Parts: sequence; C-alpha cells; structure tokens
Amino acid sequence: MKYCQDCGAMLRGRADKKFCDDHCRCHYNNAINKIRDSGFKEINRILKKNTDILEKFSQQGIHQTTQRILSATGFNFSFSTHRLYDKKGETCICCYNYGYITINEEELTILQTTHLLYNKPNQQIPSQILKFE
Ligand SMILES: [Zn+2]
Repeated sequence: MKYCQDCGAMLRGRADKKFCDDHCRCHYNNAINKIRDSGFKEINRILKKNTDILEKFSQQGIHQTTQRILSATGFNFSFSTHRLYDKKGETCICCYNYGYITINEEELTILQTTHLLYNKPNQQIPSQILKFE
C-alpha cells in the first residue's frame, strides 16, 4: 500500500503515483523548495556580509589586517566562494570579487580579485608525468 508523500492519505490508481492530486504535489514541492531556498538565503547572506566587510576594508585603504580584527567585524572564515592565485602562486580565498591571502597564522592581505588568476602560475609538472615509458 502506498501513501501520499504530502498528506499521507492512502493512494489509489497507478503504481508510480506519489500524490493524491496536483494540490498535494504542489504543496509538497513548495515545502521542499522553501527548505532548499532558506539554505541558499542563509549562505548567501553570510557570503554577502563577508564580501561587504572585505570591500569596506579595501575602500578604506586597509589592505593588511589580522584574522582577529576581521572576525571582530563579523567576518565568517568558514564561508567563501572560490579560490584564485596571484602571480607568485599564493592562494587568495575569495568572497565574490574580494578576497584575502594569508600571510601567516594571524596576518592577512585583503584585495580585490579582478587581476588574479584561475590557475597557479608556473606550476611544476611532476617529472614522472612527462615520461611515457
Ligand atoms: Zn495527498
């Protein structure tokens, strides 16, 4: 016996039926989308806040700071959008068009990411890959 995934009523008819009718199907899908969208919204809110903080520092001409100071402003180090590389191959952790490069355990450099690279420059190809025998 199968039951409606939305209201739990016993289903009659086709074996692959999941819902009583369009009302139950729409209600169920809307509930699923609402849960999914709330997850997007929360993460996007954090990413936007991180980006705003980096932008504010950058626009005030503050490019060197510490993790502690950034955290104190509400920056969340658990969230970023992607990684890029500078010409020296240092990894920039990005929040959209701003990011930071860690200098050491505490200090970091804030920068706009427009000039950064998608791949590490001058990457050494391991010699064993070059040999085909
Ligand atoms: Zn139903």
